[in-house]
Amino acid sequence: MAIIPLIVVCPRCFSKDLYRFGKDKDGFQKYQCKQCRRQFAPDNPPNNSRRKRKYPGCPVCGKASFLHHDYTYYSNFRCCDKKCNHSFRVPKFINIDPPSSELQPHTFSFKGMRHPLYIVLCALNYYFCGNSTTRKVAQTLYMVHQVKVSHVTISKWIKRFAPVFKKIATDRLLGVNLCDSDEWHFDETYIKIAGKDYYLWLAFDAETRLVLDFHLSPNRDSNSAHSLLANCRRKFGQPRSAVISDRYYAYQQPASLFFPQAKHIRVEDFDDLINNNVIEAFNGQFKAWYKPKRGFNSFESANRLIATYIFFYNFIRPHSSLNGLTPAQVAGVQYSDKERRFWLLVA
Ligand SMILES: [Zn+2]
Ligand SMILES: [Zn+2]
Repeated sequence: MAIIPLIVVCPRCFSKDLYRFGKDKDGFQKYQCKQCRRQFAPDNPPNNSRRKRKYPGCPVCGKASFLHHDYTYYSNFRCCDKKCNHSFRVPKFINIDPPSSELQPHTFSFKGMRHPLYIVLCALNYYFCGNSTTRKVAQTLYMVHQVKVSHVTISKWIKRFAPVFKKIATDRLLGVNLCDSDEWHFDETYIKIAGKDYYLWLAFDAETRLVLDFHLSPNRDSNSAHSLLANCRRKFGQPRSAVISDRYYAYQQPASLFFPQAKHIRVEDFDDLINNNVIEAFNGQFKAWYKPKRGFNSFESANRLIATYIFFYNFIRPHSSLNGLTPAQVAGVQYSDKERRFWLLVA
């Protein structure tokens, strides 16, 4: 038998002899007095007819909802109208960690930079577009520019510039509208950091080949999938028709939670997909860049290098499959070739 709290009394006759009487339209428990038949909902404060609702209204009938279940990543509400009984979920973005791509804000200064900026940016270009190691970049700088620097200095330059490129990418992608694109692809691959396997989670827009976001994590788990997909939703909205991932279970919940408009297609293998060249193209180039480096030495440096690599992939390196344009240009980010060279030379 349902228990009626002791403090509940009939507001008319003060009897404690009560029935439970369903829920009122705002989702609060109602009671009926057995003596005088008065119905009331003591938890619903008075004069509240125009009060703001505690929970979101039902998206189907507009009536009030009640909290049915509260989970880590979302709340499940149900319509108070028994006939409608619609159940819906509202994501809790606040409980979802941002992906590793959201680098900590980092101030940048040219202080202590003993070489001309032009030389530094040439080194970055060789490193990110030419698949060179820092040692090879040092050799090239000496051969081409007669500048003698150690590979350690070059690796410092590369890490130092990561926040600059991150800022350019964030600013430029802010105004871009990807809601008209049909498909987004999600995939994970692994890389080595200090001898250990880490997962690199990636999100792509199929049409423009833009890398939407990435997340680097020691685990292949549900938290990582939520971080990546939630950030794509926050930054770019939802794709028009589909979200495509492998069959890994962790994609299911975030895909339906953050992209309710889109169909979630789970493929056994991306090779089976007609339109799989997006991920293929990236992976091929990424491996060619990553392999000579034989792994990264720390999480922090891997994260920064990958962020900058993706900036070069999205904004700098022309793609032959995109008629020599960059993914960012195809996505509608306005910048000229002159500007592209300018970012490289005076970032
Ligand atoms: Zn009564
Ligand atoms: Zn309803």
